[in-house]
Amino acid sequence: SPLIERPSARFRMTSAASSSSYKVIIVGAGLAGLSCASKLLDSLDPSDVVIVEALDRAGGRTLTSCLPDDEPVDVGACWVCPRQKNVHRLLREHGLDVIEQQTSGIRVGVRSAGGLSGWLSRAFGRETTATTTTTLFTTLRGLPAWDLIQYTLLTRRVNRMARAIPIGRPWDAKGAERLDSSSVMAWLKEEGAPNNSTARGLMAATVQSVFCADASQISMLLFLTVIAEEGGVEVLLEEAQTQRVAQGNGTLSRRLAASLVERGVEIRLGAEVVECSHSATDGATVATRDGARF
Ligand SMILES: Cc1cc2nc3c(=O)[nH]c(=O)nc-3n(C[C@H](O)[C@H](O)[C@H](O)COP(=O)(O)OP(=O)(O)OC[C@H]3O[C@@H](n4cnc5c(N)ncnc54)[C@H](O)[C@@H]3O)c2cc1C
Repeated sequence: SPLIERPSARFRMTSAASSSSYKVIIVGAGLAGLSCASKLLDSLDPSDVVIVEALDRAGGRTLTSCLPDDEPVDVGACWVCPRQKNVHRLLREHGLDVIEQQTSGIRVGVRSAGGLSGWLSRAFGRETTATTTTTLFTTLRGLPAWDLIQYTLLTRRVNRMARAIPIGRPWDAKGAERLDSSSVMAWLKEEGAPNNSTARGLMAATVQSVFCADASQISMLLFLTVIAEEGGVEVLLEEAQTQRVAQGNGTLSRRLAASLVERGVEIRLGAEVVECSHSATDGATVATRDGARF
């Protein structure tokens, strides 16, 4: 039988644009919103809580899809690690299995080579493209010593900057506004590694593998915040990706949502919140694009 539940197989969530009153309104049915609702049920009645979600499904950035043979495949977040105690607790509560990620072997990358002239270009900061040069497989240790030194220095600098970010309050970091106005790629080109495109490319590849987005789309402050939370660039690339959920991370969100609905919590789907206001007399009001007010 399939390992994961298909959408709407076991529970229904509402999508009608009606208005109601609740003690707590949670915006967003990602893992944070769902686990927050679950925690609130320790002290509140299910009818006191509503989750208002813009999309037509719960789970946010977790989503498990199925291969034709019913093998689950995560298309959003897919790794967990032993340090994520709260996630592990949720996985146990919802009967999901953790498996070890295959990590043995050597890390291999692909880069354009171009012989001595290609290396000289990169060592002096110019990007070269694979279409004009020979493609080469390489390991980190197999890099020319100069590139390796530059990348090591860059990693140390990024880790040092990350240590200065206050956990949970990145906006209070020194120079937060400037860091948040710059993409990782812009920072690499201007400050981090202006003179070595190999070091720059490796750090940009780290951003790509963690955020599934280009280094030109992620703010430097966000990158540093994630590194600060994980404990270093190396941890982000190694330890943070050591385990997987056999049934898929999206299945955790799906089961969490199903258990909330079964206990009587309303999850309002297709309801994008467009306004939140607060007054001393009426409390908080949340309005959605489809005209509902909570
Ligand atoms: C491709 C990818 C791979 C990842 N890999 C990993 C990994 O391997 N390991 C790991 O630990 N993390 C990973 N992450 C990060 C992880 O997915 C997120 O940190 C986590 O899912 C965030 O949960 P959240 O509930 O805070 O936010 P989200 O999952 O983003 O949930 C927010 C929810 O709020 C809703 N919402 C937003 N605005 C509104 C609005 N105005 N009105 C109503 N609803 C709104 C959104 O639709 C969404 O459902 C990955 C992320 C991506 C995208």
